[in-house]
Amino acid sequence: MNETELKDYLSASGAFLEGHFLLSSGLHSPNYVQCALALKTPARAGEMGAALVAGWQGPRPDIILSPAMGGLIIGHEVARAFGVDFIFTERENNIMTLRRGFSLAKGARLIIVEDVFTTGKSTLETSAQAEALGAKVVGAMSVINRMGAKTLPFPSLSLLKLELTALPAEACPLCRAGSLVVKPGSRKF
Ligand SMILES: [Zn+2]
Repeated sequence: MNETELKDYLSASGAFLEGHFLLSSGLHSPNYVQCALALKTPARAGEMGAALVAGWQGPRPDIILSPAMGGLIIGHEVARAFGVDFIFTERENNIMTLRRGFSLAKGARLIIVEDVFTTGKSTLETSAQAEALGAKVVGAMSVINRMGAKTLPFPSLSLLKLELTALPAEACPLCRAGSLVVKPGSRKF
């Protein structure tokens, strides 16, 4: 799956929407990404996992770790393509935690996998948690990277980089043009 095919698929699956959207941050944006819609077809999710592994030039991991919820499906597919185990962190009292009896061996090399890199916050929190347990983060992967100029402190790979513009309502050209803002996911399909 190359970048053009992925972009077409994101649009066709409804994962990439163009219009006039009110984001959870309160900002307005001409586009919106809901990666879960692109990952709902297992064969397609598998192709994305395989494409990430095929493009990876860093060290081979011993295990894949994803922060729930967003990273669960794509992390599982990346682990399948590498032929390694997959575990995930969840927030407990707002702290990224390994639960359910999951553990990390000391010195285990891991890759953190997410659906979308937005601010990098959950990746960094997951990384800190893994390193506190003695594991070594050798990289991070995502389907989509919308971090703009921001980078992560380890090698990373994304299938698609999206430059998404989000602005406050008073600076929004779509509002100025008289278009009505829509909250993503509020429409019934
Ligand atoms: Zn607007």
